[in-house]
Amino acid sequence: MANNTARVYRSDEGFVRQLIEPLFNKLALHRSPDVIASPRSEVEVVELMREASQQGWKVAVRSGGHSWIASSVRSGGLLLDMSAFKSISIDATKRTAKVGPAVRSGELVKALAAQGLAFPVGHCGTPGIGGFLLGGGIGLNWGHWKPACFSVRSVRVVMADGRVVVASESENSELLWLARGSGPGFPGVITEFELECQTRPADTRLSSWLFDLDSLNQVTGWVVKASRNLPSNVVVVVSTFGPDRPMLPPSEGVPSHLVGVTAIAYVDSEEEAREALNALSEGPGCSSVFQSELDPVPFEMLYSIIDATFPENHHYLADTFWTPLDVQGAMSTISELMREAPSGKSFLQAVMPGHGAAGQGLPDKEAVYSMDERTLMWTYAIWKEEADDQSNRRWMKDLVAKLEPISKGHFLSEADLHVSPQRASRCFSQANWQRLIDLRRVFDPHGTFHGFPGAGFDKTPSS
Ligand SMILES: Cc1cc2nc3c(=O)[nH]c(=O)nc-3n(C[C@H](O)[C@H](O)[C@H](O)COP(=O)(O)OP(=O)(O)OC[C@H]3O[C@@H](n4cnc5c(N)ncnc54)[C@H](O)[C@@H]3O)c2cc1C
Repeated sequence: MANNTARVYRSDEGFVRQLIEPLFNKLALHRSPDVIASPRSEVEVVELMREASQQGWKVAVRSGGHSWIASSVRSGGLLLDMSAFKSISIDATKRTAKVGPAVRSGELVKALAAQGLAFPVGHCGTPGIGGFLLGGGIGLNWGHWKPACFSVRSVRVVMADGRVVVASESENSELLWLARGSGPGFPGVITEFELECQTRPADTRLSSWLFDLDSLNQVTGWVVKASRNLPSNVVVVVSTFGPDRPMLPPSEGVPSHLVGVTAIAYVDSEEEAREALNALSEGPGCSSVFQSELDPVPFEMLYSIIDATFPENHHYLADTFWTPLDVQGAMSTISELMREAPSGKSFLQAVMPGHGAAGQGLPDKEAVYSMDERTLMWTYAIWKEEADDQSNRRWMKDLVAKLEPISKGHFLSEADLHVSPQRASRCFSQANWQRLIDLRRVFDPHGTFHGFPGAGFDKTPSS
């Protein structure tokens, strides 16, 4: 390569460490790029892209390394490690922020809070904002603020041929459309996002309940009924936990498997929270093993609670399923399997965006992000030792077999795209998938970027 960008080749000492260390998921990988380059500026990205196209190298991009399927690690070619792109510049008057793709959710939310602002960052503190926004971004208060990609105003992009372009509603709008949800299918390297911010909710409150898993049907029935009367600035999550959960380990009188309900009200006062959560006050009619209501948690600290359920240095399999069933119907299909999980750390989750309306009513034309149904389910297998890989893989396969028949599609950022070549297409409406494929041909005519893993893009570069 002609430029001075720091790089390490496959045969170099330290290559594997540099490849693996930034990845959140420690599940073993059996693929590798030829070289990893770590540009420090946009100019260096430009030079690297020119070099890659001269060499005929395929390119993959990494910002925070938090893709569950390590979508940045591909076979052969160049891995662009954007970890140096960590700038945050906030214009409090315009309520906008310019953010580098390697900024972590936790860093952004704290910087904004200091200026009275907020953003629908992800639920954990550590994912990079780059992959999060590109993948759609299901973040805090998403029922009210919509998935985060709808708050991207513009992006700076280095294209396959090394050109730098800005994509906004008024220029290169098709590229902005792609930046709002195409994830690993995006045909460029984003060096900066411009974001539309929100006013920070002054008094975010959290109510949570835990019940014996035996009461699942009653509990989800309660949530479905209450949801009809909850406002959009409340998000209710139903989760099922095994014995190694962080919040309430089993002890005498505490069941091994639990179902939890967490309701977060993004409001400005305790009184407003009480009113917002009132529909849940009736309860499910069975006794809880733990209950805590209207806890104040600063908006910018919510991630620290959720981080605890995703331990570092573990092996993960994650997947997602959009279903037209409500949370009760969706959860009932997998309650038995929850008890069979080989790892006590694994858990399942479901949310009804829009509280049970069929879908959130997403804006039609603003984004490639378009998969939307009544309920979104997340499945997470979490374990520590490689020796347990096979049993956990089997369990996840059983879950997928149960959930596929009730599912209409997947949420791209947390879907296991390796399950089948159709997975990537099922993360979008049919029309948006076709337009995405067409636009990729326009913006990346020689197939320089790897594209979606598992979808056959490596074999057919221009498709
Ligand atoms: C603990 C944990 C919690 C999570 N919580 C949430 C959540 O609450 N909501 C949610 O929506 N998702 C969540 N996710 C999923 C996460 O948002 C996505 O996996 C996202 O891709 C991570 O971003 P990253 O930059 O760290 O990923 P990377 O692994 O660095 O990148 C993923 C892909 O994004 C693309 N990409 C990244 N940066 C660029 C760039 N600068 N230019 C072009 N392409 C780029 C590449 O194709 C890359 O393969 C979570 C993941 C983890 C591990």
